[in-house]
Amino acid sequence: MPSSSQRSLLRGLLVGLLVGLFALLLTPLTCADQAKRLRIGITLHPYYSYVANIVGDKADVVPLIPAGFNPHAYEPRAEDIKRISGLDVIVLNGVGHDDFADRMIAAGEKPNIPVIEANENVPLLAATGTAARGAGKVVNPHTFLSISASIAQVNNIARELGKLDPDNAKTYTRNARAYGKRLRQMRAEALAKLTQAPNAELRVATVHAAYDYLLREFGLEVTAVVEPAHGIEPSPSQLKKPSINCASWT
Ligand SMILES: [Zn+2]
Repeated sequence: MPSSSQRSLLRGLLVGLLVGLFALLLTPLTCADQAKRLRIGITLHPYYSYVANIVGDKADVVPLIPAGFNPHAYEPRAEDIKRISGLDVIVLNGVGHDDFADRMIAAGEKPNIPVIEANENVPLLAATGTAARGAGKVVNPHTFLSISASIAQVNNIARELGKLDPDNAKTYTRNARAYGKRLRQMRAEALAKLTQAPNAELRVATVHAAYDYLLREFGLEVTAVVEPAHGIEPSPSQLKKPSINCASWT
């Protein structure tokens, strides 16, 4: 019969063993957790798609503006500004479509948070119409509506995210290439359809100066932009103006 002191020694040994075993079992999990998941802020919907396709399940994508808000009319709110403190990096359009983000970052608790300028090195079109007459707006910021410019932005974002998260850099590059391939296929299919169209002399009216990028890519010109101001939809009477009444085009 073991004495009570032997029993307590045995119990102590057993507890020690169990604690050691648990520590061992938990070790791989702890190590995996140490590689922190990036939390990436985005401002506009297209950038959500770009980043989500680049990171897959390796990082989290967090919209700065809640669903249902129009980025054309959005004014930063305190609760949205607060969200920035939980982010590691913010991906920006950076050429005029998400200027509100600069104000949010400056007003938040992380004024020096890294930002990725998606349009770095992307060729930009000049702004036209009311947008060109606005204070300091000289470029058309809607590069996300060009397939080529989207691919360039996806590559820029993937490269910069890889610098911040080297463990996943290869995955980001691989995903960005796969996404770029899908976009190129989409462009090739659209071009093939356009080439086969019986009359390629198209005249195009748009209700947002955004589509210049997309149409230029296919060699088309925007004939008329019916947009009272950036992001403001035209009224039915503005659409009936003789200059853009499609029924009068021959
Ligand atoms: Zn716009």
